[in-house]
Parts: sequence; C-alpha cells; structure tokens
Amino acid sequence: MTHWKTIIGLEVHAEMLTQTKMFSACPVVDSVEAPPNSAVDALSLGLPGTLPVINRTAMEYGMMVGLALNCEIPPFNQFARKNYFYPDLPKGYQISQYDHPLAVNGWVDIELSDGSTKRIRIRRAHMEEDTGKLTHVGDGSLVDYNRAGVPLLEIVTEPDIHSSEEAEAYARKLRALLQFLGVNHGDMSKGVLRFEANVSVMHPTDTAYRTRTEIKNLNSIRSMVRAIDAEVARQIALYEAGDTVKPATLGWDEQNGRIIIQRYKERPDEYRYFPEPDLPIVQVSREWVSEVRAKLPELPDAKRARFTSELGLSAYDARVLTQDKAIADYYEAVLAEGVNAKTAANWFTGDLFRLLNDSKIDREAVAETKLTAANFAKLIKLVEGGQINAATARKDVLPVMWQTGQDAEAIVQEKGLAQVSDSGLIREAVQQAMDKNPDMVQKYLAGEEKVMNALFGQVMGALKGKANPAVVREALLEALNALK
Ligand code: ADP
Ligand code: MG
Repeated sequence: MTHWKTIIGLEVHAEMLTQTKMFSACPVVDSVEAPPNSAVDALSLGLPGTLPVINRTAMEYGMMVGLALNCEIPPFNQFARKNYFYPDLPKGYQISQYDHPLAVNGWVDIELSDGSTKRIRIRRAHMEEDTGKLTHVGDGSLVDYNRAGVPLLEIVTEPDIHSSEEAEAYARKLRALLQFLGVNHGDMSKGVLRFEANVSVMHPTDTAYRTRTEIKNLNSIRSMVRAIDAEVARQIALYEAGDTVKPATLGWDEQNGRIIIQRYKERPDEYRYFPEPDLPIVQVSREWVSEVRAKLPELPDAKRARFTSELGLSAYDARVLTQDKAIADYYEAVLAEGVNAKTAANWFTGDLFRLLNDSKIDREAVAETKLTAANFAKLIKLVEGGQINAATARKDVLPVMWQTGQDAEAIVQEKGLAQVSDSGLIREAVQQAMDKNPDMVQKYLAGEEKVMNALFGQVMGALKGKANPAVVREALLEALNALK
C-alpha cells in the first residue's frame, strides 16, 4: 500500500457582521430569523443607476482579521468586478477583490490533538459582497436578497493542510479568532461562515502537486471533515486503479455520506475580472493600520499564554478554556468573583463541560444556560470555604443550579446540606462505624491499610455524605492509631 499524502487548501467565506451592507446603508439582518427580502434596497437588488459606497467598518473588520492572521496589509487595495450570472446575483457581477487584496502573506498556528502545533500559511484575505440565497421548492426556486451585499471576507490558505484533522483544527481556530474579534458569531447553521476545501493527493515519488478538486458548500465543520476523508479516499482509489482525477467542483451529501460530482471543469472559470469603475482605490495609510491594530482585543493565543504564565494553569486547561470565546469569557467572569484560578479551571473541565455535554448544549452557548457565572462562583466558594463538601456540591447542588438557576446558598439551606465539621459529631460517627465493623478494624491493625477507605465510606454514609472529608479522615486515623 502506497502512503499517499493529503494536500488541502481551504477557502473560507466569513460574513463581517456590521450594521449595514458592504456598499449601502441597507441593514444587515439575521438570515434565518428575518422574513425573506425584508432587508433589501436598490443596491442589494443591483438596480441600474445605483452607486456603491465602501463601508469603512467592514474594511476595518477585514483588516482586523488580516492582522490577527499575521498578514501584511498592503498600502492600497482595490475592488474588482467578478462577472458571472446567477439568480442570486441580480446585477450580473459580484464586487470582489482580485489583483490587490486587503491582506496577504499571513499565518496561523493550529493545535493538534497530540499537543503539537503547526503553522498554516495564509495566502490572502479579500473583501467582497455576499450574494442572495436560493431555496429550491418543488420544481421552482425562491430567492432571498437579504444576504445580497453583506460584507464578506474570503480567507485563503496555502496548501499546507495535510489531513482532515488539521483542516478541522484550522477551521476551529479561525472560527475562534473571528469570535474573539467580534466580527462574526461563527454560527455555521446560519451560513455566516462557509468552508470550501481544495483537495489533492501526492504520491511519495511526486515532485509536483496533482490535480485538485474543490468541495463547495460545506455547512458544518463535521461535514467538512467527512467530505475531505471521502474525497481523499476517492482520489486514491482512482489513482490506484490506474485512472486519473479530473478537475471538478464537488458537493457533499451529508445524509448518505457521499461526494457528489457537480461539474467537471474543462478549463478554469473565466470571470473577466476588471477593476470596479464605480469605486476608488482604497489607500491604507500606516496610521490607519496602527489604529486598527490598537483596537484588537486579546486573541486566543495570547489569552492561552497568559492563562499559563499568570494564572498558573496547565497547558491543557489553558487550551480548553481559550478554545471558545464564550467559555473564556465565562471563566473570566467566574474569576472576577474572586475564585482561585486553578480551582475554577477544575470545576470547568470536570463539571461544567460534563453538564454541557450531557445536556447537548454547545460550549458557545454557556452564557445562555441557567447557571450564571456569579452563582457558579458562589458554589465554588462554598466548597473552598468548607461550608459544603465537594461531593455534595457536585451531586446535590450543582445539578439543581443547572436545572433551575436557583441560588447555591439557598439550595444548601433548603436541603440542609451544610457540611458537618463538628468534630464531636464526627468522632461519634467514627466510633460507631468501628464498633459495627470490628473485622475491618482488625484488618487495619494487621497492616491492611486499604480498609481505611471502607470505614471512611461508612462514616460519610452515616453523616449523609455531608461531613468534611478531611476532618473525617483525621478522626478516623486518630481513633485507629490509638488502638495500635
Ligand atoms: P484559484 O485562484 O483558481 O482558486 P488557487 O491556486 O488560488 O486557485 O488556489 C485556491 C486554493 O486551492 C488555495 O487554498 C490553495 O492553497 C489550494 N490549492 C492549490 N493547489 C492545491 C493542490 N494541489 N491541492 C490542494 N489544494 C490546493
Ligand atoms: Mg478558488
């Protein structure tokens, strides 16, 4: 079996979620919530006689992404017409950028599951306008122009991605970056972020790239991973059968897990690009770049580094707590209540992530759960302060807070869960447990120290799990050692 190498380049389309569209004052609306064609103007419809005006905020958002991806921002960029006809593009051309994009030559480091990092080069990022959206119903099609003219940033990598795992890591990293920057909320089900994968394979003896195919309209990261794996397998099978791979545009059938060949490309697409005559060249002064750079928030890599260096978190904890902006924000909100960073991290990776998983809630939606950061912090502090023990907090309090949003202290009071630290009470329970289990005591005295755990369980049980475990352990050791 030949070990074929996988070659992938990703093209990502990210809407820049500004108030208004790329070239007019028409509002940008949620494409799923808003009624179709409720946010359209003459520009969105491409009516003759209209003139575009560049949205400065959209340009700055695009620049922020370029800077976050370590790109150079050339001293000028220029819009160009990309000519083609499709019903979702009523003016017959899309305003895009071609020879002079907004950002070039960047890179981003991705984290792989084995803990290593890998650098993916970014070829370019350019601004353009989104198209409308077609919905096929029966033998007709409906078109919604709400999306037409929404600012769109296209981000193109070099073919540096060598597996579907790397593609996934890149997709997640880019999505997180966009969320940290606040330019895109990353909800792929709403189409605000869309991936296209260029895929080819290389034989160990190859000295040049082979033909690539392009998989379009991948609408979740999971679909992208599955589609890439299927396409790599398809190409390898063709080559091993002595056949060739033809340049093609592909689709992905999520339901049947199959690649669909939409069309073979006999020659490259011809869009007859030319500079957009209705728009000026955009001069980008170094002052403007510095101004935008100064507005960049703390990005995931910097936050992760700070979480290890300043907060003393492990590399793993720092990584998982900075993967999603919502989790990072929520974690920092808990810390702001005065909770120790490492203790909070343990509650996040152990308990919060499990609750989210079990309830099938996305980590990104953590702020919308009934468990507020302030209440979560309160619970952690009750445990730290010895008012309740950790097992009780985990088993009897946190689930109620999660279900109902009820205050941590109120639950503890209502259910009588306050921790028993009264050493008299605990010593009494210890004595009772020893009296009831003389065999265990004998074993312990004979050197079988493990039975200590069984006795500990008995005492905790007798005190309904509410006892302070440290005090119980101490009392038990004291009583047992007194018999030696
Ligand atoms: P075009 O301009 O025709 O879209 P590009 O050469 O700009 O083509 O490449 C588009 C994308 O395809 C980029 O992300 C690039 O990294 C990727 N790509 C280029 N060659 C290959 C290849 N042989 N295999 C996989 N991806 C490739
Ligand atoms: Mg392309």
